[in-house]
Amino acid sequence: MLKSFKTEINPTDEQKIKINKTIGTCRYVYNFYLCHNKSLHDKGEKFITGKSFSVWLNNEYIPNNPDKVWIKEAYSKAVKKSIEDGYTAFTRFFKHQSAFPSFKKKGKSDVKMYFVKNNPKDCRCERHRLNIPTLGWVRLKEKGYIPTTKDGWKIKSGTVSIKADRYYVSVLVEIPNVKIANNSKSGIGIDLGLKDLAIVSNGKTYKNINKSARLRKIEKQLRREQRSLSRKYENFKKGESTQKNIQKQKLKVQKLHHKIDNIRTNYINKTIAEIVKTKPSYITIEDLNVSGMMKNRHLSKAVASQKFYEFRTKLKTKCDDNGIELRIVDRWYPSSKICHCCGNIKKDLKLSDRIYRCDCGYVEDRDFNASLNLRDAKTYEIA
Ligand SMILES: [Zn+2]
Repeated sequence: MLKSFKTEINPTDEQKIKINKTIGTCRYVYNFYLCHNKSLHDKGEKFITGKSFSVWLNNEYIPNNPDKVWIKEAYSKAVKKSIEDGYTAFTRFFKHQSAFPSFKKKGKSDVKMYFVKNNPKDCRCERHRLNIPTLGWVRLKEKGYIPTTKDGWKIKSGTVSIKADRYYVSVLVEIPNVKIANNSKSGIGIDLGLKDLAIVSNGKTYKNINKSARLRKIEKQLRREQRSLSRKYENFKKGESTQKNIQKQKLKVQKLHHKIDNIRTNYINKTIAEIVKTKPSYITIEDLNVSGMMKNRHLSKAVASQKFYEFRTKLKTKCDDNGIELRIVDRWYPSSKICHCCGNIKKDLKLSDRIYRCDCGYVEDRDFNASLNLRDAKTYEIA
């Protein structure tokens, strides 16, 4: 799983010059790529991809234009990424997802210096400093915010950006599969859903029990016994079955209903117990519009089978027992649409977008992003 962190850095003057130069080159090359495609288009020639442009730039253009050799002085991965960004902008335009890519203006546009871990020495992180390719060790303003390499977390890539003369780093960190809960003294957010029952901001996911092989098998059995019951009614009308037979079959169906209900309830109890055991200081959930969802006949069965109402009631009891504050966030809070990294709200996020991608470079599982936003929600009611 990948998690993203953004924090302010405190670069030396020398590092600041390098960052500014790199970002300047990235902006220049991005605009150059746009310009180049525009002129190709005007000449009636074919659009070129970011990759082909990179090759042309390095093997043809720069060797023939020695005054542009300074492009090569900048960190090549960052330059490449800015061309890729230009290509993505074009692709989005061609797919009618956004307007024609616009030129990046100095000081106005959000151009970032991308970096990526290429060898083991890159992207090491200590409590107070982070190793960034071509910059070396850069001081962090907030110590210990980014998980350190020692804890087994690996930084895969990141960006350096400037805003109002302040310097920021945003990194994508790979979280090892060990549980990070248990010692969490802080709060957690839980995103409840139909695909999975609960996605917790501590990294745990509780699947939808109704999709388990065990429950599916029993439900199949239930449908079979229900069919048999209606057959017995028919036969009874024809005088081919007895009242006693029907009673016996009814009992069979009831027992299966009970069995299914028990499995669902036990699963909820187990899930809540496990979450509460991590002893968070608070738990934030969304105020699901259960009754509204129940009115939707496409959803009602799936919603009923997830027992959201029971989940919330039991969670409340357990929280009270353990001194955990249960926070309820308004159902209009756009937990899924907020970028947990930069705070941008993605209005056009579709239900089918399982991965949340933000223009700031943040990439996260949709529901996990929502759970982080719930955890950090500032407006809530206490249940
Ligand atoms: Zn963002």
